[in-house]
Amino acid sequence: MSLSDDLYRETILDHYHNPRNHGAIEHPTAQVEGVNPLCGDELTLYLSVKDGKIEDVKLTAKGCSINTASGSMMSELLLGKSVDEANEIVDLFKRMMLDKTEEVELPEDLEDLEALRGVKKYPVRIKCALLPWNTMLEGLGNALKSPAP
Ligand code: ZN
Repeated sequence: MSLSDDLYRETILDHYHNPRNHGAIEHPTAQVEGVNPLCGDELTLYLSVKDGKIEDVKLTAKGCSINTASGSMMSELLLGKSVDEANEIVDLFKRMMLDKTEEVELPEDLEDLEALRGVKKYPVRIKCALLPWNTMLEGLGNALKSPAP
């Protein structure tokens, strides 16, 4: 095992034990449930979108360490981003996790997500890592459809 493997495991465990943006939003623009029956991961994503920007994001996750850590990192990175930027980041992360032919490079501001790249070695767990992101895609779509308050 290399030093970076250790570091990545630390990052994942840190987010698992102290998930960022944990909780609920009282009047969200969008609220989406995500389930991964393969592992038993369940989460609810709350989004507050105003003027095309993610003003607040909260998650309640009941799942494995990979799922919880991935959602926590995602919430941290997407908070304050525009919906367009968020969609691009989700797309990039999904390509990193699913692309088997090339190593998708991440820009420096997304380097925390490198910790999840190792999950690619375990195909069953890729769904755990992707669940929060797929739920986010649905939430962003719903937020755009919902009428402005
Ligand atoms: Zn899982």
